[in-house]
Amino acid sequence: MRTVSEAPVRAAELDRLQGEWQGCQKCALARTRTQVVVGSGHPDADLMFVGEAPGYHEDRQGAPFVGQAGKVLESLLGSIGLSRPDVYIANVLKCRPPGNRDPQPDEISACEGHLFAQVELIRPRVICTLGNFATKLLSGQPHGITRVHGRAQPRKIAGVDLVLYPIFHPAAALYTPANVEVLRADFARLPELLALDVPLQPEPAIEEAAVPDAGEEDPAGQAVPEAEAAGSPAEDERYRIEAERAAESGAEADADADERDPEAARELEPAAVQLGLF
Ligand code: URA
Repeated sequence: MRTVSEAPVRAAELDRLQGEWQGCQKCALARTRTQVVVGSGHPDADLMFVGEAPGYHEDRQGAPFVGQAGKVLESLLGSIGLSRPDVYIANVLKCRPPGNRDPQPDEISACEGHLFAQVELIRPRVICTLGNFATKLLSGQPHGITRVHGRAQPRKIAGVDLVLYPIFHPAAALYTPANVEVLRADFARLPELLALDVPLQPEPAIEEAAVPDAGEEDPAGQAVPEAEAAGSPAEDERYRIEAERAAESGAEADADADERDPEAARELEPAAVQLGLF
């Protein structure tokens, strides 16, 4: 934390924005959400996390990362001696996409101003983007998370000089056990990035990969089908939906029954055990 805290002023302003945004009608998600999930944590945080969008539990409780993915995030924070009140957590979208589908480009455009306002106010030293959507929005680059995770980049975002640090979305650990160690290793670099007292030097540009990530274009300009993309397709775009469905199965006995996926729930267990969640 900073030595002279601006937390009270920032907390008041965040409260004001929270109230203002509750009535947001900028996109169609206003019709299906229960409430707007603005963010939570320390208003003066040096470390900010940006996820994708609220899921079922977040939509009900009004706070980000309160489901299974949140437990993974808390476990990872604990591994570097931090806990939720030390950091600020937000999402690219402030409202839940129905059925936990992917955020749509028009929704991201409508909502991004809220996120930039949060960054401008909190002025974090490090923003850790969780997964593809946050990484692509805040880096302004098309590279998928499989390619860029663990690569710290100096950036100016919303007028703030900071380090952008992409990692896998915590739900990727729930769905694919091999991602647990990748997440742990990437997380372990956060203290070093937070302690930087000189601006981070840019890393070499990312070279064109022989096999592009899902959704990127190959050198011939053709969009790459997910099944042919670098890394496991599950790592990139599907993990959030799969893991969220798994995490929510059983919790939504009546509501949103189409999101339940017992098959995925069985896959979730070994990773969760490895993380010490159960
Ligand atoms: N919960 C969130 O708040 N964000 C995500 O991206 C996933 C789960």
